[in-house]
Amino acid sequence: MSEDFDVVIVGGGITGSAMGIVLARSGVRVKVLERDRIYQDRVRGEFMASWGVKELQRLGLADILTEAGGIFVDHFIPYDENIPAEMAEKFAFEIPTLGPDIPATLCMGHPAMCKALNQAAMAAGAEVVRGVKSIKIQSGGKPSVSYKLDDEEYTLQPKLLIGADGRNSVVQRQLNFEMQNDPPHNLLGGMLVEGKTSWPQNAFTAGTEGNIHFLIFPQGKDRLRLYLCYDFDDRARFTGPDREKNLLEAFRLKCLPMGEEIAQCKPISAFHSYSNEDHWTDNPTMPGIVLIGDAAGHCDPITGQGLSIGLRDVRIVSDILAQNNWNPDDWNQTSFAPYVEERQERMRRLRVTGRYITRLRAEFGEEARQRRARASHRTNVEGFPSPSASALIGPEALPAENYEQSIVDALFAP
Ligand SMILES: Cc1cc2nc3c(=O)[nH]c(=O)nc-3n(C[C@H](O)[C@H](O)[C@H](O)COP(=O)(O)OP(=O)(O)OC[C@H]3O[C@@H](n4cnc5c(N)ncnc54)[C@H](O)[C@@H]3O)c2cc1C
Repeated sequence: MSEDFDVVIVGGGITGSAMGIVLARSGVRVKVLERDRIYQDRVRGEFMASWGVKELQRLGLADILTEAGGIFVDHFIPYDENIPAEMAEKFAFEIPTLGPDIPATLCMGHPAMCKALNQAAMAAGAEVVRGVKSIKIQSGGKPSVSYKLDDEEYTLQPKLLIGADGRNSVVQRQLNFEMQNDPPHNLLGGMLVEGKTSWPQNAFTAGTEGNIHFLIFPQGKDRLRLYLCYDFDDRARFTGPDREKNLLEAFRLKCLPMGEEIAQCKPISAFHSYSNEDHWTDNPTMPGIVLIGDAAGHCDPITGQGLSIGLRDVRIVSDILAQNNWNPDDWNQTSFAPYVEERQERMRRLRVTGRYITRLRAEFGEEARQRRARASHRTNVEGFPSPSASALIGPEALPAENYEQSIVDALFAP
């Protein structure tokens, strides 16, 4: 069976569905192929940085998420073993004060976000199929994708095929995109919990105590998403039947006044953890194919950039497709050169930021603690330049020098 579409998107998660909405709203004939019939909580992005929120607004998608339960979170509290809790609360700052036109960050459950965007893609006129299996892809001037749905096989030959099928992308693997990655350095895992706590629903934190780096993101009502980043050596503590209990226990921290309340919350999802190194490609395009979101390579999630990266991809790729009044005859691999170039530099800067944050917050022991204290003093008190704000305000928002190795070396110097 064959049907006529200008664009077929493999993967109807965050970026695939967002792309589906934008294209369908512009009259492009688009089909979205999604594997899952019901979106699962696999522990993915629940915190959207300010620069991602800005992309969401530019794409005209922000209302879809806020109407489906997304909440704006505008405070950061720097709880950490290096400062007393009262001082962390005194140093808390409002994200929008980081610069002009900086929106608050947005927090929302990943499955709920996927569902809201996917439904909006359908409402905008995209054809969405859920439950597809056995995807097979071919690149070329007229790419093709075949898939099975309820044991029936289908083949489509659109003008363009977009791979938006996430970090284990079948499109990326079948077409042998050349990928690079950093060596694994630690594990990051998260769990959704529910319970009465005094955690403010307009604030998030990211800090370190002992041998864990902890992050807390509010999810509305009485819910919090808890993340822990820890060494591979500590893996046994957070695997097996007691892992949820041990994760909650780990939040009984001296530097965290609500730690005791948080430790008494009820897990309402499984705890999953992942090795969190960067994966990237220098060219996410081929004839007839463009990869976006995690399929095009994903950043170390320690800085929570994946949602923002995916939305930026959607904007840049859709802007290219919109040239010449969305004429599919004008779409070829060279049209995507500006996307390739911009993404290369964007991901390079975010890798510098991720490596800096990882070394700062997710290396443990006395020497690492002192190094973190020095770097924090240098940035917050002495005004040293640093790449870290890019994780909130966007990699392009800081000068190029902030990503130079000499800057990072100066922050960490003894
Ligand atoms: C532990 C962890 C924490 C994270 N925390 C954050 C955070 O706080 N903030 C942030 O911005 N980012 C975070 N991220 C990253 C973020 O989750 C991803 O970057 C983001 O979800 C990418 O969106 P996507 O649409 O590319 O992929 P996904 O959201 O993974 O969507 C891919 C979709 O493709 C579908 N699919 C997969 N294979 C196929 C197939 N063969 N055929 C059809 N469909 C298929 C999947 O079912 C899914 O719906 C985190 C990641 C991890 C691992």
